[in-house]
Amino acid sequence: MKSQQSTANAQSERFKIGISACLMGHEVRFNAGHKRHGFCADQLVNIANLVPMCPEVAIGLPTPRPAIRQVHRDDVIAVEWSKPKAGDEVVDFAPALAAKASEFLAAHDDLDGYIFMNDSPSCGSVNVKTYRTNGYQATRKGVGVYAAGIMAAAPLMPVEDAGRLNDPVIRENFMVRLGVYRAWRLLKLSRETLTMGDLIRFYSPYKYLLMAHSQTAYKAVGRLLANHDRKPVNILADEFIAVLMDGFKVLANRKSHSNVLLHMLGYFKKHLSQDDRQEMLSHIDQYRLGITPLVTPLVLMKHHVKRLPGNYLSEQKYWQPHDAGLGLRSAI
Ligand code: SF4
Repeated sequence: MKSQQSTANAQSERFKIGISACLMGHEVRFNAGHKRHGFCADQLVNIANLVPMCPEVAIGLPTPRPAIRQVHRDDVIAVEWSKPKAGDEVVDFAPALAAKASEFLAAHDDLDGYIFMNDSPSCGSVNVKTYRTNGYQATRKGVGVYAAGIMAAAPLMPVEDAGRLNDPVIRENFMVRLGVYRAWRLLKLSRETLTMGDLIRFYSPYKYLLMAHSQTAYKAVGRLLANHDRKPVNILADEFIAVLMDGFKVLANRKSHSNVLLHMLGYFKKHLSQDDRQEMLSHIDQYRLGITPLVTPLVLMKHHVKRLPGNYLSEQKYWQPHDAGLGLRSAI
């Protein structure tokens, strides 16, 4: 059954992304401050509906409030006051925070992704500090309890910590994953049942983009879609999107992008003069060596694509997998 929200988001051209409220400038932190994130609050907001949520405030904690922290206690991860007063009863906020994650997803079943505030015992999606009661040093292997609830319930949905989004490669990767995940959601909403043809048509424009991210996933998808095992399409579809989303998590780099560009250049054998081909090769090399950004060889090659018969190459998402206005490929 498709919810009204899913249908409404399908009709909108904008992404819908959950986000830690403090990243949008809401003064909800323990110290009544915020952690406004420029990319999210100034740029992403132009192409996405950002849904702010502060789970600590949502479970009834006041602002300002004493800080809380994760504690590995009796084999469970508890979330407690950082500095309890002597004689205070130990309160574990973890169950309430986890319940908020379920509530949020039930209210927003049409999310395309989530951006979490890094390092938070509630919201951090990686490397959260977890204290231990046995006297051992704190570790940095934890996941915020609210974030863990969101990720467990929507394991394929792209998520990222805001701090990591400051890295241009990770930022670009997140936007790629948002686009793929959203396209898949919309495909599923538009069909009662998926056919083999649906999977092949969906994947075809992503082929070179996936090749840039993960050769392993690229080969695995090829094997899956050949379907030598004659698996039912619904089972195959679940495996396909899991492999695809996993593959896109791998960060593409100058070597892998150069490899894709060279592959695509192979299509031009009969359609480019020797000079044009040499110019293209030289641009790919300059990009590979870190002299120019990805956008430089891409623009030149895209200019030549119209010379090719058919539209297989021109329809590749690789040319522009996200909003051009963000200028993400000028920074990688
Ligand atoms: S990190 Fe999460 S819980 Fe902490 S203030 Fe921000 S939104 Fe609230």
